[in-house]
Amino acid sequence: MSLEESLEQLKRQYLHALPDKKKQIITLWVSLRKNWQSYMLSAVYREVHNLKGSSETFGLTETKDIVDKLELQLKNLLDAPAPTLNLIKGLDTLFHQLLQNNQHYLPAAPVVEAQMQQNPYNPSKARHEYCIAIIEDDNNVGAMITKQLHEFGFNVQHFLNFTDFIKVQYASPFDLILLDLILPDYTEDALFEAACEFEKNNTRVFVLSSRSDFDMRLLAIRANVSEYFVKPAETTLLVRKIHQWLKMSDKPPLKVLLVDDQQSMVDYFSSLLRSHGLMVRGMTKPEQVIPTLEQFEPDLFIFDLYMPGVNGLELARMIRQLDKYTSSPILVLSSDDTMQNKVSIIQAGSDDLISKQTAPSLFVTQVISRAQRGHDIRSSASRDSLTGLLNHTQILVAARHCINLAKRANSSVCIAMLDLDHFKQVNDTYGHSGGDKVLLAFAHLLQQSLRAADFMGRYGGEEFMLVIPDMPAPLVIAKVNAIRESFSNIVFVEEGAEFKVTLSGGLAFSTECHEFQECLLLADKNLYEAKRTGRNRIINTLVK
Ligand code: GH3
Ligand code: MG
Ligand code: MG
Repeated sequence: MSLEESLEQLKRQYLHALPDKKKQIITLWVSLRKNWQSYMLSAVYREVHNLKGSSETFGLTETKDIVDKLELQLKNLLDAPAPTLNLIKGLDTLFHQLLQNNQHYLPAAPVVEAQMQQNPYNPSKARHEYCIAIIEDDNNVGAMITKQLHEFGFNVQHFLNFTDFIKVQYASPFDLILLDLILPDYTEDALFEAACEFEKNNTRVFVLSSRSDFDMRLLAIRANVSEYFVKPAETTLLVRKIHQWLKMSDKPPLKVLLVDDQQSMVDYFSSLLRSHGLMVRGMTKPEQVIPTLEQFEPDLFIFDLYMPGVNGLELARMIRQLDKYTSSPILVLSSDDTMQNKVSIIQAGSDDLISKQTAPSLFVTQVISRAQRGHDIRSSASRDSLTGLLNHTQILVAARHCINLAKRANSSVCIAMLDLDHFKQVNDTYGHSGGDKVLLAFAHLLQQSLRAADFMGRYGGEEFMLVIPDMPAPLVIAKVNAIRESFSNIVFVEEGAEFKVTLSGGLAFSTECHEFQECLLLADKNLYEAKRTGRNRIINTLVK
């Protein structure tokens, strides 16, 4: 179902339930008239206020006009020392109008704007689904780059000439092309012209050239190519650029936690945000928020302002008191975007008020930019600055959490400790920056090889920790060995000299340990064993 269809369906469901909703409110009003109680008046007010928010969201302008007036009158009544006959009569008339109004049975106006179709957060492909072509007539060079990129898990195809490549490209376009500029069948000009076309059609072009002069670079710039490499291109740099351009930095979707006491609002805003690639946890009960934070760590909170029991501002303050979320962005949803409301929202430590009538595309844009900020704040505090992997503290948090979950769910988690071999020598021979490149390449390889459910962290220096939940032990062992093997085949180039690096690893499965600390010790012990018995190997004590 398209987004428009699903929003339209939500709207239809809402309209279907609306007559009953109105009757309920009016029944409440009638009982209040019979037996005046201030808590009942508050209940009527709250129901009317909710109706205002939802009628705005679904674009029911006539209903909204009546509800606006109702809300205002009820507010006057709330503020008045005692109900006056005039106020009550006025309200009777308005409630009557509300019941009579059937605007919502008219064909529904489109709620969705055209530009919403353009998804700014195109959920990215799985890594191995990215296809890369290398067009290089020197078979050795082409085969070497192809092999190296394969080690990083990329899907690469090598072509010796442009004609063969073109046939495949037109049938199913590559995501990225590495293009040698000196080919037997096409001139440079023709290649630049083609490159320009590819870039326009969403295929990134990296030029590989033996020339690094200004004129050549200028031609490349004018053809709009994404990157320009002078041969021999360094694989680790190439991989880094590929990650950048294909936005493969293992970006998880942005996460939003949304609370509104009306299910229809939760459904509406959740569908809207999900269709833009965000992950949304929606709920109608504010008391569910804190328990949810244990498994769902949102980048952004969205709270309805008026809810029974607790309001959005109180909830915002509560969130701010949690250490982990002191700087998370919080948006408050309301139908009143008055200045006074805005001020009190900012005072409560929340970021902003967003009106329920905000156009969908603007709503999505605002949510995405704030969620991105929340994400950046959280991740800069929890990530290692060189590799972008989780830092020491966070990988331990992830490990402990996964092991506890596994113990409860009777499943298994593997903790892998990996340590690069003779890394001190790498630094001594190729310099600290040479060493850093190796660490970065290893981090890319890990990101490339593991699933989204796995965690990877830099435990310290040249030591890394992986947390791999829910995978049968023999598969984990094969996987970690495949990583070891691929890594050992990567050729690093530093000032003309080529070298390779290996790694050793120790595994521990939660099923062979009682608790978290024991698991860490076992992984460490197995790592030590791998070092002791000759390095470049992975040791486990579960499967022989
Ligand atoms: P082994 O095979 O026994 O693990 O030997 P090793 O040389 O790898 O181990 P050792 O612990 O003796 O040396 C680790 C080296 O890693 C020393 C340190 O300079 C280097 N290192 C730690 N962090 C970094 C970093 O961020 N960048 C670079 N380039 N080197 C680092
Ligand atoms: Mg080491
Ligand atoms: Mg070490």
